[in-house]
Order: sequence, then C-alpha cells, then structure tokens
Amino acid sequence: MKKLLLTVCIFAASLLGARAADKLKIASFSTIDTEIAQQVGGDHVEVAALVKPGVDPHEYEPTPADLRAVSDAQLILTSGKNMENYLNKLQQTTGGKADLLKVGDHFSSLKMKPDEDDKNAAVDKSGMVEDPHWWHSVSNVKLATKIIRDELIKLDPADKADFEKNAQAYLAKLDELEKWIRQKVAELPRDKRKLVTSHDAFQYFARDYGFKIEAIEGLSTETEPSNRHVSELVDEIKKQGVKAIFLENTLNPKVTTEITRETGAEIGGTLYPDGLGTGDAGTYEGMMKHNVSTIVDALK
Ligand SMILES: [Zn+2]
Repeated sequence: MKKLLLTVCIFAASLLGARAADKLKIASFSTIDTEIAQQVGGDHVEVAALVKPGVDPHEYEPTPADLRAVSDAQLILTSGKNMENYLNKLQQTTGGKADLLKVGDHFSSLKMKPDEDDKNAAVDKSGMVEDPHWWHSVSNVKLATKIIRDELIKLDPADKADFEKNAQAYLAKLDELEKWIRQKVAELPRDKRKLVTSHDAFQYFARDYGFKIEAIEGLSTETEPSNRHVSELVDEIKKQGVKAIFLENTLNPKVTTEITRETGAEIGGTLYPDGLGTGDAGTYEGMMKHNVSTIVDALK
C-alpha cells in the first residue's frame, strides 16, 4: 500500500513538474500585482510572490533567495511610482532577460510636496513626490488589470482567449466592489469624511471617495514624525473635531496612541495601507472592504 502511494505521488509530482514547465514564470513584488496576475493568468502562470501579505513594502529588500526566484522569471511585476529602490539589483540578476513591468507607472500619479518625513523620496523636476499607494483606488486596479492582461498576452499569445476571459471576470468583481464601497461611504456625511492615518497612504482613496486626509508620517514608513508635525496634527484634530484615528498593520502604534491621549479621539481600528494583509484582508476585495468598513463605522 505504501509503495503504491509512493508511486502515485511520484507520478503526480512528475505531472505537476511537466505542467509547471509550460507556465509563464512571474516574480511579483506587489501583493496587489500578485493577485491580479494569478486571477488573470490562471493555470497558465506560476507567480512567485516575493513581497508577501503583511510585509511593509517601503522597508522590503530582496533576499538572496528572493533573487534566485527572480533569476528564471520571464516577467517581473512591481508596484512602480518609485515604491521600489532595488530595481537595479533585479535587472542585474536576470541580466535584463525578463520583462520588467512597473505597473503603477502606466497610469497617472497624485503628486505632493514632500514633507519633512519624506527625505528619502524621489523628487521630480518640480520638487514633487509621487504617491505610490495607487491600489486604494479601485479604478486604478482596473487599469492595472488591463495592463497585466495585455502583458500576459504579449508573452503568451497562445492563451490570449483565457487571459481575456479571466480579466473580464475579475473586472466584473472590481465593478461590484466599487459599487459596494460607494454605498458604504455614502453612509458617512461629507463633513465627517476626515481621515487621520499613520502614514500618508490614502490620497487616491480620498480622491475617489471624497475624504480629506491628515497623516502622521509622510508617504513612506521609513521615518519617524517630528515633534512639531505631531503637535500641529494634535491641534488640527481638536479643531476639526475628528472622532477617530487609525492604526496600520505594519506600523508601531506608539505615536498614534499618544495622539489619541492628547486629543480625546478614539482609535478607530487598524487599516491596511501597504497592500494585502492576512485573514479577511488576504484578498484585494477583503482588504478594501475591511478598510472602508473600519473607516466609515468609526467616523459615523
Ligand atoms: Zn505606504
């Protein structure tokens, strides 16, 4: 019996091996890109997810094992909009053989003046920095889906029909999600749509759903906020009568908790600013619903 089981296992493993060899190999450095590539690619792709759910992408650096996973990839997916500062390393590893798709670079950016916490950010000619957190806008994720679909078709034209069908199904789910978000946000009167978060990750969300943002830190999570910035924020929260402020899954809650003590605002819950999390927030839909419900229910 044992022998038979072993034979079956070996047979199954060799089948899997043969199938894996036909798959388009993708290395993904964004949890959002990973989900899109898996949904659109289906059985035709094998996605190595190198930035994992719950990992802070601002602080992530590829390990030697990650780079080995990249070395045989045909396609590398990144967030883009200057999120990654290790692209040279990736290109050296593949010798430029893999396509590099910086997904977020293919649609427009919200730009802002860097504040004192954004010292490491890439500044453009006009002295502005790009907000890299594009996935908090469902319409951006729809664009990303089409961009990844077209790239998969380019690399594997034989499976074009499947990629188109899968993308269409995923886009329909995103339409449903967006409808759900708009209904949920409508529960909150406009004058209560004031979002105070730990780092400045929700600008695209604010643009699409009519919120005003105050952030404790800048666009990245790599720097601590200054005392002056924190005391200005405390004044602003008191003046605006903001009811709740939010923690983030990848950040130390210390400063946020201090601010609640000084302002009397409550902790409204924990948000996922930097990509997918775990549990309910392990899918794009789950992450967005978690964030939107947490924000709306706490500020009501
Ligand atoms: Zn961030």
